[in-house]
Amino acid sequence: MNFNNNNIAIDGYAATGKSTLALALSLDLKMKFLNTGKMYRLVAIFNLRNNYTEEELEKNLRKLKFTYKNNKVDIKNFIYDQLELESQEISELSSQLSKLKFVRDYLTKIQRKILKKGGFIVEGRDIGTVVIPNAKIKFFLTVSDEEGAKRRFKEMEENYNNLKYQDILQKIKDRNKEDKTRIIAPLIPAKDAIKIDTTNKNYNEVFNLIKNKILEINKNV
Ligand code: C5P
Repeated sequence: MNFNNNNIAIDGYAATGKSTLALALSLDLKMKFLNTGKMYRLVAIFNLRNNYTEEELEKNLRKLKFTYKNNKVDIKNFIYDQLELESQEISELSSQLSKLKFVRDYLTKIQRKILKKGGFIVEGRDIGTVVIPNAKIKFFLTVSDEEGAKRRFKEMEENYNNLKYQDILQKIKDRNKEDKTRIIAPLIPAKDAIKIDTTNKNYNEVFNLIKNKILEINKNV
């Protein structure tokens, strides 16, 4: 889709299916995809491996050379495992580190550089409010903590033993609260965002809802 090289923001809570939806929509609409949550997760792995203090992380963050190719954001010469990337430990740590101004400033700068050419569907927490407030279309997805935890539990149960629904529920609650209440770039909808509560909708329903909105708006641009 040409869409005048505009970008589309998909922000929202944890476990709304944002990343999967944004990737699938970008393929369907022939747009590019940027997963900004992954960038915060990669910083968390980098920090955990090096056991840095905040000061050390600030000094060393610039060493991370982010790359973007074929819809994938990565770090040059940085090897990690998909399970590690999606682990609870990294989810929590990325949320903690995302409160730091120098982390947000660094990642926001890189995100804006990647997005300059336009034509992206971008998933995150602050895309419509901070990273590209001029995005042509903005979505803000929510889900109840209980339904979010159910979805996460289902996704993770294949790969993890002794997983407890109650633990996942608590972690999702904590992370959403941390993300919503942080001082810099909190998780809040942009004024002009289209809000979608995904609690009682399945994946296909949300996919079609978003796709149809994009096509409808695009017709009138
Ligand atoms: O979306 P995902 O769960 O991969 O994001 C991990 C964490 O990174 C979030 O809980 C949030 O704290 C942080 N994040 C952010 N801003 C973004 C994307 C993610 O603060 N644009």
